[in-house]
Amino acid sequence: MDKSNILEIKDLHVTFYTEDGVVRALHGVSYDVPENETLGVVGESGCGKSVTALSVMRLLPRPQARVEQGEIWFRDKDTGEEINLLNLPEEHMRHIRGNKISMIFQEPMTALNPVYTVGDQIEEAVLIHNPKMSQKEARERAIEMLKTVGIPAPEKRVDDFPHQMSGGMRQRVMIAMALSTNPEILIADEPTTALDVTIQAQILELMNKLQEQFGMSIILITHNLGVVAQNADKIAVMYLGRIVEKAPVREIFHDPKHPYTEGLLASVPRLDKGGLKEHLPGISGSLPSPYNPPPGCKFHPRCPYAFDKCRVEEPPQVEISPGHTVCCWLHTKEETRHE
Ligand code: SF4
Repeated sequence: MDKSNILEIKDLHVTFYTEDGVVRALHGVSYDVPENETLGVVGESGCGKSVTALSVMRLLPRPQARVEQGEIWFRDKDTGEEINLLNLPEEHMRHIRGNKISMIFQEPMTALNPVYTVGDQIEEAVLIHNPKMSQKEARERAIEMLKTVGIPAPEKRVDDFPHQMSGGMRQRVMIAMALSTNPEILIADEPTTALDVTIQAQILELMNKLQEQFGMSIILITHNLGVVAQNADKIAVMYLGRIVEKAPVREIFHDPKHPYTEGLLASVPRLDKGGLKEHLPGISGSLPSPYNPPPGCKFHPRCPYAFDKCRVEEPPQVEISPGHTVCCWLHTKEETRHE
């Protein structure tokens, strides 16, 4: 592993075997997560962002999902050990999950148990990972975490049930629960999708603040490039199970190379171009069926620049500048356009 990284995913291939057919959910996904940085993983629903995250947590649905190939390396900051998570016995993985790598999910109402108070649920998370802690200490920790994530009157709200809280509050509880064990990596899967824009901004700001305070790395998964603009250091853009472009955030926004990234950017309203009044072109068509993906470049049916080769051969990943990679025939040196 590179010394600056805490997580490295290498050439990950995951397939789902379902009653309706076989889906190659990930083919050849690789990305690095540096220490104390945020990696934004962006793409439309169904492109493989969450499948990659669930692979890291080893929470893929079984027996349908199978990791066919690849490695997921994690550096344990406490021991300095480099571990391939995919080879880890389940008992050791349980220790990593929650303690070292935590995940917050998109819809807090389904992730929180409605019949327990939020305090009980945070306490349970704390006690599972710190079995020597007393119940009283766990409750104090739960109150402290609710305070950290900005819940007013945490001593009272700790006894609330999830339905007594607003969507924004519940999302804060999820973050409190995920951070209660001081993880080294926080995976946030669409953490603000169900919230209105003001609360979204507050939650993202809170995550940035907590990242500074706790010194952790974040994988921020979203379909919205606008969300990662101010919150990520690097961005990986995914399309139908592949990373099609990866670069530092500034390069993605100022000099996108992949036509899909261009399309995603074109669908983000910009204040300097008329804000919400502006006409947003977006990307034509929709994501092809994963059961029957197109040959060649998977983006070719929707790409305004597609030419003959795109329809038959999948483009390789090429590095066009340090840290900036793209999968598109337009950016391979030997390529010439035929149309
Ligand atoms: Fe478009 Fe061809 Fe590039 Fe794919 S390889 S993104 S179809 S130009």
